Amino acid sequence: MTRTWNFYAGPATLPRPALERAKAEIPDWESTGMSVMETSHRSPEYDVVHHGAMDLMAELLGLDDDHQVLFLQGGASMQFAMLPMNFIPKGGSADYVNTGTWSQKAFKEANIIASARWAASSEEDGFTRIPKQDEYNLDPDAAYVHITSNNTIKGTQFHDFPDTGAVPLVADMSSDILWRPIDANRFHLIYAGAQKNIGPSGVTIVIIKKSWIEQANEGLPTMLSYATYSAKESLYNTPPTFAIYMVRNVLEWVKAQGGLAAVERQNRAKGDRLYGVMAANPGFYSCPVDEDSRSYMNVVFRLPSENLEAQFVAEAKAAGMVGLKGHRSVGGCRASIYNAMPIEGVEVLAGFMEEFARRNG
Ligand SMILES: *Cc1c(COP(=O)(O)O)cnc(C)c1O
Repeated sequence: MTRTWNFYAGPATLPRPALERAKAEIPDWESTGMSVMETSHRSPEYDVVHHGAMDLMAELLGLDDDHQVLFLQGGASMQFAMLPMNFIPKGGSADYVNTGTWSQKAFKEANIIASARWAASSEEDGFTRIPKQDEYNLDPDAAYVHITSNNTIKGTQFHDFPDTGAVPLVADMSSDILWRPIDANRFHLIYAGAQKNIGPSGVTIVIIKKSWIEQANEGLPTMLSYATYSAKESLYNTPPTFAIYMVRNVLEWVKAQGGLAAVERQNRAKGDRLYGVMAANPGFYSCPVDEDSRSYMNVVFRLPSENLEAQFVAEAKAAGMVGLKGHRSVGGCRASIYNAMPIEGVEVLAGFMEEFARRNG
């Protein structure tokens, strides 16, 4: 079996052991003579997967008893609406930090449901950096402050989370959840579509502070209320069982790597290798992002011309590396190097970048 070096931003590469396990278990899973996707979500066998995935997530993130892991559908995009629907009280408002496309989409939904304001922004700098704490203009009465911890398109990442005082902190961590150990208990809510760093598309992870749910708005449709998922442990209706099974396999792989501290060391080595190639070839590769805001998940870079960028992407593909074209809204190149991208794949890319610069510089 040959595997492509997959640098797509999402859905993205998954750990090979998680895939191999699924392959082996599809015809006959846990001696049931069925696959996990063919069995009842109320079966004892599925229950082990469902709660196993929740427990592993809580263990890896060190969640306290007041934080709960939920499985939803509708992607991070659904959370853009569900969050304000549940937590902005009538006549209230929430604060958002503007770091590019995804934060703007979240902001738009909050303004459809209720009202939102920008508390900080790096728009004037083309979103090439993360706003610093002293730039924040926080509303002390805000329902919450919303950040996008990793900006998949712009290639920026929060390396320190803002201090929001008594105002609840919420993060869209779709593209960097579990990339390193964090103090997850600081957050009232974290959400992430699984398809970047922890699984296939189809399941959305929400980590919620249970005591906050008591303050949520009432009278919401059942499926749009966090209280439903919390009370029923994400089994009110049929959850995306196969996607959750894959997440469980990925989380077991993360744990086998040595947990988040080990994963962080790998991720830093990978990112530093690519940023190092840029630093060593300053006339050829350039990174538009400020050094202290660079992402270890989505490494963006430019070449001297768009023609060279197209040639780079095409030649990389011929050499077995896919997904290196930047997002259509910004152009350039982007290498998404999530947890599951092995250091070997990054070495292959770094070597190719060095050789491409020698030939075309
Ligand atoms: C991909 C992405 C989204 C959108 O996720 P969906 O699951 O497709 O709705 C939202 N936020 C961030 C930061 C993303 O990277």
